[in-house]
Amino acid sequence: MKKAIIFDFDGVICDSFEISYKISKEFFGDDFTEENLRELLDGNVFQNPKITKQAAEKLFKAYNEKLKYFEMEKMVEESLEKLAEKYSLFVISSNQEESIKTYFQNNNCTHIFKEILGAETHQSKVAKFQHLFEKYQLKAGDCVFVTDTLGDILEGKEVGVEVIAVDFGFHKRDRLEKGEPFKIVSSFNEILEVIASI
Ligand SMILES: [Mg+2]
Repeated sequence: MKKAIIFDFDGVICDSFEISYKISKEFFGDDFTEENLRELLDGNVFQNPKITKQAAEKLFKAYNEKLKYFEMEKMVEESLEKLAEKYSLFVISSNQEESIKTYFQNNNCTHIFKEILGAETHQSKVAKFQHLFEKYQLKAGDCVFVTDTLGDILEGKEVGVEVIAVDFGFHKRDRLEKGEPFKIVSSFNEILEVIASI
């Protein structure tokens, strides 16, 4: 049985595509398309030449201001609560730890996750997985990673975790398929089913 379930934040736990797109458009200009936003996440976002240090700072600042007011969907919360009874839950995100923690505090969910690893820990998700394995004495085979982007699938596969992709986030099914995740699912119920089956 798996021991830990690691969640990506944006597009999985938090439905943030629209707000991210709005903020990106304000920053990059009116000709910035939804496809342009999706492309940024085909690999690690910080390795994309468009995301300079200054761009990252500005985009995150504007985004985190909005994130404070986001409400977590009841169904997401209940699913996470259920998983937390059996597994250790973590978040690995490119977003900032402080903002994600504030979001969980505002939604009374701080008890669900053992640790949130964001941009302050490292920009590479590979490095964040390795940090987590060491700290909690986990092997890649003990973990499942749930995410919504091709770039994340590739980083997850690089460290050897089982990746479940969701098609209700930033990337659609055809793009997720390129990373050949273990499964692609369309709801939190399905996430629970797949986890129970492995
Ligand atoms: Mg995401």
